[in-house]
Amino acid sequence: MNRRSFTQSVTGAAAMSVLARSSAWNKSSSDDTPSRIMAIAAHPGDGLFTMGAVLAQQIERGGTGALLSLSLGEKGAPKVIHVQQYGEMQRTATQKATQLLGAEAIFFAYPDAEIPFNEQSTLAVCDAIRQYKPDVVITHWSGSWHKDHQNCYLIVRDAVFYAALETLVRSDPAHSVSKVFYAENWEDASNFVPDTYLDIEVVYEKWLQACDFYPMWRGQTGFFRYNDYYSALSIMRGCLSGFKHAVALMSDPGRRMARSLSL
Ligand SMILES: [Zn+2]
Repeated sequence: MNRRSFTQSVTGAAAMSVLARSSAWNKSSSDDTPSRIMAIAAHPGDGLFTMGAVLAQQIERGGTGALLSLSLGEKGAPKVIHVQQYGEMQRTATQKATQLLGAEAIFFAYPDAEIPFNEQSTLAVCDAIRQYKPDVVITHWSGSWHKDHQNCYLIVRDAVFYAALETLVRSDPAHSVSKVFYAENWEDASNFVPDTYLDIEVVYEKWLQACDFYPMWRGQTGFFRYNDYYSALSIMRGCLSGFKHAVALMSDPGRRMARSLSL
């Protein structure tokens, strides 16, 4: 992977430092091999709006991407649309959006607002990780007011651990995820500290088109201006990183350890 075009932080050196400590990005930066990325979101809108550009950028480079939605986000339905009907609209929008980006769409059937954090859900995500075999996983940050987002963070944290556990026998063999990143989400903003900036210019228009499949993006389901927020956020993050449009990601704090013989 071309480091210069891939990421750059506010401080530059800090981003390169984070990049150098990331085995996944390091692997790609040295042999220019695109990665397999799996985005795991509580709701499809989170997946496309906060993780979709990252998937699209990696696919554009020749990598592969999959979006796993733990629920359909059906309870975000406006009053004039039945919850079940809205869920199917969300599924259709996600299928169209991922098809446009060249990503695979995977759906779990947990009820919106009731995604459980337990052994069953964690093992289900573990199995999905073992089946898709991603190098990189992107998911929600824990600093969220939304219980589904919090539970998604916890599920993915443990699922990545389970997936790599050789002694945990499942239908697919163990698989180690090289790197976990957290996406920038207006609902997960507490203590979100980005350290990796991704240049999304090459996929910017396509990503906006993909998001536009969702009524929520167009302001038809509630008060929040998703379109304005996430398109403006990409400009703001681009300003800070020296790109025209960028996505900011946060590395897993537990995986920031650097091993070095000298400074
Ligand atoms: Zn959500």
